[in-house]
Amino acid sequence: MPKLHNETDLEYKQRVIDPKSASFCGAKWYNATIWLGSGQTTSCHHPLPHKVEITDVLANPKALHNTPKKKSERAQMQCGERPAGCEYCWKIEDIGRDNISDRVYKTKIYSDEDLNRAHDLPSEADVDLQTLEIAFDRTCQFACSYCNPAFSSAWVRDINQHGAYVDLESDGRNHFTHAHDSSQLYKLGEINPYVEAFFQWWESDLHRTLKELRLTGGEPLMSGDTWRLLDWFQKHDTAVQFALNSNLGAKDDLIDRMIVASKGIKNFHLYTSNEAVGPQAEYIRDGMDWQVWANNVEKVLQSGNITGFHMMCTINALCLDSLDTFLDIVLQWKQEWGASFPTFTLNILRFPSFQSPLVLPDHIRTGYRQRLQTWYDQNHTNNHLHEMELNQLQRLIDYLDVVKTPHAGAAEQHILQRDFKRFYSQYDQRPGKNFTETFPALADWYNSL
Ligand code: SF4
Repeated sequence: MPKLHNETDLEYKQRVIDPKSASFCGAKWYNATIWLGSGQTTSCHHPLPHKVEITDVLANPKALHNTPKKKSERAQMQCGERPAGCEYCWKIEDIGRDNISDRVYKTKIYSDEDLNRAHDLPSEADVDLQTLEIAFDRTCQFACSYCNPAFSSAWVRDINQHGAYVDLESDGRNHFTHAHDSSQLYKLGEINPYVEAFFQWWESDLHRTLKELRLTGGEPLMSGDTWRLLDWFQKHDTAVQFALNSNLGAKDDLIDRMIVASKGIKNFHLYTSNEAVGPQAEYIRDGMDWQVWANNVEKVLQSGNITGFHMMCTINALCLDSLDTFLDIVLQWKQEWGASFPTFTLNILRFPSFQSPLVLPDHIRTGYRQRLQTWYDQNHTNNHLHEMELNQLQRLIDYLDVVKTPHAGAAEQHILQRDFKRFYSQYDQRPGKNFTETFPALADWYNSL
């Protein structure tokens, strides 16, 4: 039994988590993201990914998740020590005694019995996952400005064609300076033992224990392994919820094939990303044709067997110029198809930090905040908007108001603004890109940098 009805998150933590230990987190046992192209995994999105040894996987496919590192972190959590990689949660908890960190949210989705079992298991035991996100490879036809070559083959092509980005002082991890060959260990057409291990585990145990499988990329519709998996779903009666992250910009035949495949799956959730409109969206998400994307949204709503449809908005400095118009369009879809078709989340971009909304000067950011406030005031009583969506919008409005500098002061913002200009001057070398023509409201400020 997960969280009890009416129980607060704090009460849940005190009832289920605290008696186990001061650092227990169910995600360490039952959740994973696995990048099969690079052979890496992590428990949730906060700890950095780590390598899965190929020799371990060849001997035991469950090693894709049950790595020596995760096992030793489970042992730490069983006795109340804090794994260093989970710093994100410890920072939140150390703000104050009752602060609720993500480990509570990521634990409460599992049953009390399963959590008790995890806590009592010997730490060296293999565990079968309940929630899993996987990427087969990084094949993608988009090269969005906030993505990088580790996740997009179009970004790799761009770097190979135009060269590495230079002089980005705040890009400490060098996202834009090389092709990230280690993200794709095996060429297309080559057998990838990590992928083979996944299918082996999937067919033996995983499809029985997993409650939710989410496929990400790259663009999963462009990966042959996605269709291999979808074929499995067509042939088997399963309760596993299948979720797909798609940019919905793939060729018509792939979108149509996905729609057909959705009809053979009981519980199919589709996630897509966008946060702006028209040429501005096409600028941010290089490779996108806005009208094609919007048509595909409608096509899927009309013809797909979709049980959940979610827009993931990555809130960056550039999308604020048309975010309110974008939300109008989302609201129209909701009015036509129902409050949850689609839902949206507003995820404030933190990295690359020079693309964060906080890079904008006060007067521009304030103007955007006021527009969002107006949208909120006009629409907050609309019953097609979920409480979660209104909360996220309010959180963004507050963020644009209160959080003035990304880190510790004006000097930092000065560096980020310089990187913003340096990045988009280089990005503008791509065909059809012109920053000042696409964002006239930002042109004076941009030219002054
Ligand atoms: S403790 Fe926090 S960072 Fe670590 S796995 Fe759990 S949710 Fe993620």
